[in-house]
Amino acid sequence: MRGILKRYRDLLPLNSDTPMISLQEGQTPLIPLDSIGKDLGVRLFAKYEGANPTGSFKDRGMVLAVAKAMEAGAKGVICASTGNTSASAAAYAARSGLSCIVLLPKGKVAMGKLAQAMIYGAKAVSVRGNFDEALQLALKAAEESGYAVVNSINRFRLWGQRSVAWEICDELGHAPDRVILPVGNAGNITASWAGFVQYARLGKSAHIPAMTGVQAEGASPLVTGKPFPEPETVATAIRIGRPVSGRRASWAAKMSGGEFLSVSDGEILEAQKMLARREGVFAEPASCAGIAGLYRMAADGRLPKNNEVVAILTGNGLKDPDAVLSGLQLPVETDADPESLRKVLS
Ligand SMILES: *Cc1c(COP(=O)(O)O)cnc(C)c1O
Repeated sequence: MRGILKRYRDLLPLNSDTPMISLQEGQTPLIPLDSIGKDLGVRLFAKYEGANPTGSFKDRGMVLAVAKAMEAGAKGVICASTGNTSASAAAYAARSGLSCIVLLPKGKVAMGKLAQAMIYGAKAVSVRGNFDEALQLALKAAEESGYAVVNSINRFRLWGQRSVAWEICDELGHAPDRVILPVGNAGNITASWAGFVQYARLGKSAHIPAMTGVQAEGASPLVTGKPFPEPETVATAIRIGRPVSGRRASWAAKMSGGEFLSVSDGEILEAQKMLARREGVFAEPASCAGIAGLYRMAADGRLPKNNEVVAILTGNGLKDPDAVLSGLQLPVETDADPESLRKVLS
């Protein structure tokens, strides 16, 4: 069955008034990463969330949030976003005939994501401020306009995002030992954990994986215990200084035997390149923080051998071409004859 609402209808808070909207989100590939896994001494899989309709895991929660907003008779939806939430909100609003407002922190949104918000027809506003300030503004505007807020403070977002855990268990036939993922507002780690807990309670899996969250060093409040008033990292999707779901995420990591750690921007970009060159998998920088985190853990001797590990690759690499192109050489030029080509290839 295609789409989260239909596929997991028994596990979601749906009723007969909930419109069953869908862009056929979910059922993303679970790709074995044998080469990198061998390096690390673990059985490693990537849950490739870049294969969702708007290119990130945000679609899993947005489909439910927009359906519930329609059920409640909202006039439209509004969000603050570092990019992927706005792309997803704009797409599902378009699909459902709702209007959509997205507030983007000025200058900090990857090009692909901005293009998405525009093409789906959202009213996009660039806010002179950081994400946390844009979110406060969105909450205020929602109060005045009767629009539904579809940031991750919307409980339906996080409920829909549980589905990534259900799919991982369904596909493996059991829960993995560890799940590692990038953490910004900390909604996804909280939601995935809740999904694994729900499955275990229903007897569909035997244990909860160690939930391991990775932040960028320049935006690592859950590692240091202090907010970052001016978060900075190439991984714009996790450039968050004051995580909305920080408390619950800390609980999830602790209860599951997991942890938070941080990695540098250099490690993130190195992991991104390695994923692409050794596994043929292209994910946006934030997504690669998880892989960088695994290398850091292995180097510190903290990654148990032969564990089964799933790294959630949260977003598609095509979202943020600039992050890649600034670190690479552009193609060499040649005249259009075989001799010239031979020269540049030698
Ligand atoms: C939103 C997002 C994250 C962070 O998820 P949180 O729920 O905010 O922790 C990580 N990676 C990508 C690609 C995202 O879009």
